[in-house]
Amino acid sequence: PALDPALGTRTYDLDRAHVFHSWSAQGSLAPFVIAGASGSEVWDYDGKRYLDFSSQLVNMNIGHTHPKVVAAIQKQAAELPMVAPAHANLARGEAASRIVAKAGSHFGKVFFTNGGADANENAIRMARLTTGKDKVLSTYRSYHGNTGAAIVATGDWRRVPNEYARGHVHFFGPFLYRSEFWASTPEEESARALHHLERVIVSEGAASIAAILLEGVPGTAGVMVPPPGYLTGVRELCDKYGILLILDEVMSGFGRTGSWFSWQHPLVNPDGIVPDLITFAKGVNSGYVPAGGVVISESISAAFDDQVFPGGLTYSGHPLAMASIVASIDAMEEEGVIENASAIGEKVLGPGLQALADAHPMIGEVRGLGVFWALDLVADRDTREPVAPSVMGALKAELLARGLLPFIADNRLHVVPPCVVTPEECLQGLEIIDEALTAIGG
Ligand code: PLP
Repeated sequence: PALDPALGTRTYDLDRAHVFHSWSAQGSLAPFVIAGASGSEVWDYDGKRYLDFSSQLVNMNIGHTHPKVVAAIQKQAAELPMVAPAHANLARGEAASRIVAKAGSHFGKVFFTNGGADANENAIRMARLTTGKDKVLSTYRSYHGNTGAAIVATGDWRRVPNEYARGHVHFFGPFLYRSEFWASTPEEESARALHHLERVIVSEGAASIAAILLEGVPGTAGVMVPPPGYLTGVRELCDKYGILLILDEVMSGFGRTGSWFSWQHPLVNPDGIVPDLITFAKGVNSGYVPAGGVVISESISAAFDDQVFPGGLTYSGHPLAMASIVASIDAMEEEGVIENASAIGEKVLGPGLQALADAHPMIGEVRGLGVFWALDLVADRDTREPVAPSVMGALKAELLARGLLPFIADNRLHVVPPCVVTPEECLQGLEIIDEALTAIGG
């Protein structure tokens, strides 16, 4: 669209009048208006450009308006924009085969959903149906999505095998910087977190637990790469007690950590353990069309060869979403996008953020890898007390004023640009963060 400031005003006014926003009290919102975007940049109707260091909701892995992905959606829209999920469609098969190939030979099929939450819903459903058990264990520091009531509210037969918005048990995962286990080394944190998890499993009754659901690298909760041995230990506990392991790769998958899935990254999973189910969304097609899904192991898919799978969505495998997945995965491969994310983490963002921490006492810890980083901001480095919400508000304003669109969660600035971000853009972003921290006295 033309960069007409009047359109900016109209966008803002229409939004405030009629759009109901997520996770917010509606009265005091002042949404940021975006007119257009390309690569790692967005701009408003005044033509002011911003580095998108949020990747929107940490999902624009291939960057904004990638021409090959846009063209694939346009072509698919002209040829066949929609088929019912029961029919076969070439784009869906091509997308599924590419995703399975990235996940590895342990996996056979993909069930497509509209996003990440329903991917987790369906992975949990598969785990419950194949184990005949009910409880799902997940960590307190996690985000897995925002659904749950719709199928239980449903009146027809489809409700009956699904009346299980129940049986959720939480435990603490490892997080050395704010340890729940009085640990002082990553090894200690890992061992004690595993001991705690086993105590939870035994106390809840292993015979009642269908699955452990974990983010490969917990994202919104603070970008916490699991310490050495943790994922291996979780896999061993799952095997010991007959529990399935679901890894939620919605945020951490498709390049964010510098590998296709975070559990394939040697720093995340040095022993190379393999989950039973993988959930994905976001980076699979950078959300150009809403999509997500579950990558299913051969043995779990086989369990549904004769047993009916009681789950489905009108837009499961929507052709526009599928065409965008195919184009996005192919472009990521052709253009070395995963390798770029990895190199940016190692050579630019990792050292650059550490240098910021050396200069700014407000940065308590720098965590992450690839293009998946968090700065944990503290009022006091010794007590690690998080900074107040007003400090984060001031930081956000300073970053925006200097042309950087941030992702802020609690007391953290998450540094999560697209996987296509260039070294020059990262250096520019680091300079802006440096100046903004100085401006707020950090
Ligand atoms: N799982 C993880 C790890 C996420 O980060 C998110 C979204 O942020 C979800 C699931 C939910 O995905 P969606 O918002 O597409 O339903």
